[in-house]
Formats: sequence, C-alpha cells, structure tokens
Amino acid sequence: MATGYSYHPDLLAHDTGTGHPERPARLSAAHEFLQTHTWYPELVQVPPTAASLAAIERNHKARYIEHARAQIAAGANYLDSRDVAVSAQSFEVALLAAGAGINLCDAVMDGRIENGFALIRPPGHHAENDQALGFCIFNNVAIAARHLRAEHGLGRIAILDWDVHHGNGTQHSFETDPDVLYISLHQFPFYPGTGAASEIGIGPGAGSILNCPLPAGSGAVQYELAFHQQIIPKLDEFRPDFILISCGFDAHENDPLGSMELSTEFFGSMTEWMLEVAHRHCAGRLVSLLEGGYDIDAMRTCSARHLDALRRA
Ligand code: ZN
Repeated sequence: MATGYSYHPDLLAHDTGTGHPERPARLSAAHEFLQTHTWYPELVQVPPTAASLAAIERNHKARYIEHARAQIAAGANYLDSRDVAVSAQSFEVALLAAGAGINLCDAVMDGRIENGFALIRPPGHHAENDQALGFCIFNNVAIAARHLRAEHGLGRIAILDWDVHHGNGTQHSFETDPDVLYISLHQFPFYPGTGAASEIGIGPGAGSILNCPLPAGSGAVQYELAFHQQIIPKLDEFRPDFILISCGFDAHENDPLGSMELSTEFFGSMTEWMLEVAHRHCAGRLVSLLEGGYDIDAMRTCSARHLDALRRA
C-alpha cells in the first residue's frame, strides 16, 4: 500500500528571522534531498490545504486563534513570548501545517494511502490550547487526533512523540481523555520542563499519558529499552485505531539543541517498530508529522530514512 507525502513551498513563508534554528531551510533542504531518491516518485503526493477554523477550534480556544491572527496581522514579531517568532505570513502557514496532517489522515481513512509523512513547519507539540510556545502556533498532531475522532469516528488514537523535547501542549490537550494515549520520549530535565514519569494523566485520563524521560546523552540503548519495556507493551494494551507520530529529529546526535545520541539509522528502527504496532492493531494506519530537528543534514537523512521505512511497510 502507498505512502503519502505532504509538503508545499508556501510552508517556507513563515519567517522566523536571521539565526533562528526553526528556519525554512530545514524543510527545503529535506525536500530537495527526498527528491533525489529512486522511490520518491512512488510516494502519493497529498498537498496541504489550510485547515478550517472549525478544525483548529477542536483543539484551541477561539479567542486564542483570533488573538494569533490579529497579532500577526498587526505586524507582531513574536506571538505570546519571544519564543515564537512570527512574520506576515505565519498565520496562514500555521493553518497550512495543521491542514497537512488533516489531509494525510483523510487520505489514510479514504484508503488512498496506508501511511504518510508531513514535512511541515511551524511545529506544533508545544502549543497550548490558548497559547503559542516553543516555536509552535497550532498543535498540529492534537488537531489531527481530534479530526480523526470527530470526522472519522475513530475511538482510540495513540500519539507517539519522539521529539527531544516533551510535548507539553499535546499532553495537556489529552491528559483527562482516556481515548487518546500520549507517549513521549524526551530529554529530561530540559525545555519545556514538563514530562516527568509521574505525569500519567488526570481523572478519567489516568494511565493515558506515558512519559519516558531520559537523561542527556542517552542513545540507542536507552531508547530501545524504553520502546521494548514500556512503549510497545503500552500500545499493545491500548490497541489504537490510528497512530500519529510527533516526529522530531532533534534527538539526532548532531542536533544543536538536543543532547541525545541517536543515529539516522535509529530513526528508521523506531519507525519500523511503530509500523509493526500499527499493523497489529489498525491495518497499518499511521501518520507522522514533523516537529523539531535543527541540523540541516540530519533533517535530510532522517526524513529520507523515515519515509523509506514507511514506504516499505
Ligand atoms: Zn524539539
């Protein structure tokens, strides 16, 4: 079955300014490199379109969405904090990034593709329902999860977040929801400060959050242990109807922000383990959305290794 790919050059129009690590070249370099592969023409192009406000409002407060739109329209250089640099096109680009995830999910549910990857920016997993944070404006993966439940009637969604940072926004979106399992592997202690192992969900959502905090310097040995002792058993117990990946490449050994030691090849291994879970429980249905990743060469090679695993599933 086919693998979908979502990218559009309009995603480069979100200008974060000189010297910012979350820069357009992350995407343009990866996209150019992907096109050099013999398998690139086999990918099913699933172009992003702007997410509707209704889709965004499933995860974000209407007053926050309007605040973001108005601040950016007024020419703000930052949204909510100096952490989130914005430019004139940032609101439209953020809608496009969220729409990429939605379109890939629709393509999987329509049977056009089995799985897919969205090469998008801005990233999403730090965005709270009422606040921009950590380079993120809208929480792309949370919006995709809510779309799958609202528009496709799916019961249980699993989100695996292997970005080197904890996805505070995603956890907060679903920590009281027993039907969305959020699993994160991340450097800890580290930005944004959340993601302790003791954070397991609240009330009816208790047990639907699995945090695997790892010390700086962790590599394949520690990640593989977390997958096989905690993450895969948890997913098998949850039996997801759909798997979403918050796919950061900033746990790569060359990343300038993260301090982890993962190789490009290891991102392929993690992808393959998740595909095995997806085939056991949900007919291989899996959509992966780019989060962080700030070394340009690692962005190229990890995107290619990740997509190569998806297409061979
Ligand atoms: Zn990150």
